[in-house]
Amino acid sequence: MMASLLLGLSSLCLLVWSLRQRAAILRLRELEKIRLAEGLRSLAAAGSDRDSLLNAFPDAFLIADAQGSILHCNEAASALFGPAPLAGRPALEILRDARLAAPYLECRNSGNPASARVLLPAEAAPARTRDPATGESVWLVDAAPVPQSGGPPHIRLLLRDLSSEHQLEQIRKDFVANASHELRTPITLVGGYLETFLETPELLDDRPAVLRFLGIMRKHTERIACIIEDMLLISRIESSDASALRMETFTLAECVQDIIDRLEPLIRTRQAAVHIALHDPDLTLEGDRFYWTQIFFNLIENALKQNLKPGLQVTVRSEAAPGALCLEVIDNGIGIPAADLPFIFKRFYRGGKLHAQNEVPGTGLGLSIVKRAVEAHGGTITCQSESGIRTAFQITLRGAAEVVPAGI
Ligand code: ADP
Repeated sequence: MMASLLLGLSSLCLLVWSLRQRAAILRLRELEKIRLAEGLRSLAAAGSDRDSLLNAFPDAFLIADAQGSILHCNEAASALFGPAPLAGRPALEILRDARLAAPYLECRNSGNPASARVLLPAEAAPARTRDPATGESVWLVDAAPVPQSGGPPHIRLLLRDLSSEHQLEQIRKDFVANASHELRTPITLVGGYLETFLETPELLDDRPAVLRFLGIMRKHTERIACIIEDMLLISRIESSDASALRMETFTLAECVQDIIDRLEPLIRTRQAAVHIALHDPDLTLEGDRFYWTQIFFNLIENALKQNLKPGLQVTVRSEAAPGALCLEVIDNGIGIPAADLPFIFKRFYRGGKLHAQNEVPGTGLGLSIVKRAVEAHGGTITCQSESGIRTAFQITLRGAAEVVPAGI
């Protein structure tokens, strides 16, 4: 009896103990679960920290596993190669072009970092920035192994868009080449005349011929001086940021009238007329007056230069649009052929067959100076032309900063 009582008691104790043990185990498991959840939460937080960090980079960033499948990518990579999700897809399928894939493959095969600067033609360029003229894009592709504990390394891929730097470099090269070419022609001509005089001194006795040659030489040296002056002006505009502009408030009509006064001899020779027709005669601009003088001088002088026939009418007008001011220089002259229009703002571009006969003086830099100066003031310039009817250069200044209505 006693034995069965003890047995019963001990079984009860065992049951209580085992129940306690179970409760303890359950508590432990519960704790483990909580710890695991916390761990996962902090892991996720670390992951999202990593994501935010990678998304902060403008470069496309991808990680591929040893089999070549994309494990991870940042937003820039999705924007570049999307819209379909990239994770899980083969890196080679995403990179598509053999030139982009080359550093990745080299890194995968050699186990060493590899990088390349890749120029892609329009049809192969990924979506983002391209040269608007050629459609080309330039990329830095950089691949490096990422060691994994106990397994083959992953591969990190970085793609940096170098198209803008490439375009700038191209513009600089073109400018140097064009400038050298434009300067070489008159310098060679002047040199040629001087050499002729030195080699055949008896020519100096022919006074009328000497005077004629000196006149030609003077014309060429004037052209060299003009080119150098325009080049200096362009480089001054390009090297100065908006803060370098000497901002002041000035009356537009006064500024244009000064230009008309300076151009008076040419206006008279051409039997032309220049009118000021502003929507507000007291209109003031906030800007660098030196550059605005250059802008209107070049536009009005161009109209006068290009039109040899009498009766030309040039009008400087303005119009206020909501949030913007529109300034126009309009003429009724020969106009600009449609084929020339896309190029007139390019440096050294000179349109029309008149120029081949050297009838119209100029450097081909005038309109590029105008465009740079307008852009330095936050504006844009466009041109429409209908031969013999209307050629209009239209400058748009948006935002209150540029537009100061009269009386304020
Ligand atoms: P430039 O006057 O020295 O030739 P610009 O850059 O000022 O150079 O002008 C580029 C070209 O645009 C000119 O050569 C000319 O063909 C054309 N052009 C500019 N303004 C006018 C105009 N008002 N009428 C006709 N052609 C113009």
